[in-house]
Amino acid sequence: MSRYTGPVCRLCRREGMKLYLKGDRCYSDRCAITKRNYAPGQHGQGRKKVTEYGLQLREKQKVRRFYGINESQMVKYFNMADNMKGITGDNLLKLLESRLDNVVYRMGFGASRAEARQLVTHGHFLLNGEKATIPSMIISVGDVISVKGKSKNSEKIKELVENNNGNTVSWLNVDLEQLKGTIIAEPTREDIDIPIEDHLIVELYSR
Ligand code: SF4
Repeated sequence: MSRYTGPVCRLCRREGMKLYLKGDRCYSDRCAITKRNYAPGQHGQGRKKVTEYGLQLREKQKVRRFYGINESQMVKYFNMADNMKGITGDNLLKLLESRLDNVVYRMGFGASRAEARQLVTHGHFLLNGEKATIPSMIISVGDVISVKGKSKNSEKIKELVENNNGNTVSWLNVDLEQLKGTIIAEPTREDIDIPIEDHLIVELYSR
């Protein structure tokens, strides 16, 4: 499955907001949004009339880029959300928040979701004691994600623990001594760091 591998700050500039794709840099004055908050490219500073479809498309792209997923994965999550009980938009965001790579990022292991995804694919984490290397695995309440025995001595993990402040979201209980995180509740909208108008995404896919 192909994934965007180009310069990520362009993605934030295209969406006109910080998507926090580059770790510490996102919180510094080196952030491209701080320096050049207009769309990239020759006509980036020109004023454009935005259609309803354009608004819906931008909202969907923003979410896709925030979670680092491609279009076919996004369609799959939308269909899953649409088949679940409750509000489709809320379900969609909960599913995306429940991805293993996002949970590892929320545990403070990885300065960005991309780094957390790499740690997962490199086999540094266990899910309920079993090896878990698929970033798109969906985590449920009661699941425990822990650092694999051997990985506890890796320099990268040690560095991440040193800079880790523990809990970043209300639905996750991080134990830095045991190097594990327990899902104690379903993810909430309040913990998502960017404003998302999910009804626009629902409208887009319902066209
Ligand atoms: Fe780049 Fe991060 Fe700023 Fe986005 S938020 S423009 S990824 S530094």
